[in-house]
Amino acid sequence: MPSTKLKIAIQKSGRLYDDSLKLLKDCGIDFKDGINKLKTEADNFPMEVFFLRDDDIPQYVEDAVADIGIVGENVIYEKNKKVTVMEKLGFGKCRLSVAVGRNERYDGPAYLSNKRIATTYPVLVSGFLQKKNIIAEIHEISGSVEIAPGIGLADAIADLVSSGSTLFMNGLKEVETILHSEAVLIRHPNLDAGRHEILEKLLFRIRSVHKARHTKYILLNAPNANLKEIISLLPGMKSPTVLPLAEPGWSSVHSVVNENEFWDIIEKLKSAGAQGILVVPIEKMIL
Ligand code: ATP
Ligand code: ZN
Repeated sequence: MPSTKLKIAIQKSGRLYDDSLKLLKDCGIDFKDGINKLKTEADNFPMEVFFLRDDDIPQYVEDAVADIGIVGENVIYEKNKKVTVMEKLGFGKCRLSVAVGRNERYDGPAYLSNKRIATTYPVLVSGFLQKKNIIAEIHEISGSVEIAPGIGLADAIADLVSSGSTLFMNGLKEVETILHSEAVLIRHPNLDAGRHEILEKLLFRIRSVHKARHTKYILLNAPNANLKEIISLLPGMKSPTVLPLAEPGWSSVHSVVNENEFWDIIEKLKSAGAQGILVVPIEKMIL
């Protein structure tokens, strides 16, 4: 009997491709990458990887052609498929925004009444207009939305934005945000027990990678007289490790700190007499 494999769909090429591959690699899953390939098998994890267009991924996961997938939230909510969102993945961040000509006087959503809005996201845009009680004409186009106002095809656009430079280069300004989006892991609503078990293993690894990404390992030398003060500055997972140094009266202290607070803590540690401070990345963090 063939053993169960979890089938994951990821984008074949495009903005999510590199980070999706990196996430699987960081989870210790090895396979050959997908250039000119439809699918491949992992060497050391019960997983098959399908390389697809991002727009097709929700449908494939709904139909159980793939068990799980990595795709932007924007695509999931636009396509409205029956899939379960498991985990935000922290990459592919963008927003679906409304933009109008830079010189337009935009004074709120009422501006959009009876205007023509070009977008590749008609479902999300019409939801937004409905919520604001605005009636406007949605022009669904499949690409290069940002040029629509310039060629007289539309008065406004709704498109994905990250830095805003594309809008700027096309003489547009961002005026409303419809949705904030990032890549997420989705799954088919009913996975069998075998696939569920593999998914749990994968999720455990993804969460360990994420926790590690936001934390640093810190090592420092401290005079014993100041140990109490220095230890009180370190949050740590439980309590810091304290080891005597060869030099009498000194100890080595090891702990884990949050990325957001480590500059702050380092200043305080220095003033409390800590020396030889090392901050090193953590690859995985198993809690
Ligand atoms: P495909 O050939 O797979 O259909 P695509 O051209 O539709 O690719 P990409 O441009 O690669 O898609 O974008 C994939 C996803 O990346 C988007 O759906 C979105 O979730 C995310 N993304 C992040 N930043 C941006 C951005 N600035 N513009 C567009 N998409 C972005
Ligand atoms: Zn696409």
